[in-house]
Amino acid sequence: MYRRGLVGAYSGNTSLRLTDAGDDSLLLVTPTHHPYYRLKADELVVVNLEGEPVEPAPMRPSSETRLHLEIYRRRPDVQAVAHTHSIHASVAAVIGLDIPPLIDEMLMTIGGPIKVSKYAFPGTQELAEQAYAALGDRNAALLRNHGAVGVGPDIWEALEVCDLVERLAKIFVLARNFGPRAASPLPEDAVATEMQMFQDNR
Ligand SMILES: [Zn+2]
Repeated sequence: MYRRGLVGAYSGNTSLRLTDAGDDSLLLVTPTHHPYYRLKADELVVVNLEGEPVEPAPMRPSSETRLHLEIYRRRPDVQAVAHTHSIHASVAAVIGLDIPPLIDEMLMTIGGPIKVSKYAFPGTQELAEQAYAALGDRNAALLRNHGAVGVGPDIWEALEVCDLVERLAKIFVLARNFGPRAASPLPEDAVATEMQMFQDNR
């Protein structure tokens, strides 16, 4: 996320279920307020599904851990969550407009439009619940006046989703410079076909 410019050194956060380690009830979360360029593997924090570290850890888990917990609780299919502050996604989150189906890979990767959540204060349970309300069964959402969240069946796909959200938000914002109706959505039959492809690939 940091190398791709999707977050600043201290912002955003990511997590995954430790399913490969044989325990669905544990998550690996990035630590709070620690720069990515100095982050080491053993500084990641193992937490339970209440967000509490399971052993004394040198770092505290991300202040946005509730967001991750809420998504894992509501979405058993999700194995990894990434929360970013990329610029164009943040612009769309400030404008407060859902990003409609604009290009073909959007539907096949994200599963529909990217909706904007209602505003909630960072780190709160309310933010977690509003984010899930905007996410639903899709793979990405925008957090109002804040940033984006992407999910996937592994950490790499969650990262790809966040990359695509940023690209789509950039396309959306640039297209809207040509007028409010210039960001014209895909034809309805293409949307239907691509939504079916998304469902078939789940
Ligand atoms: Zn954030």
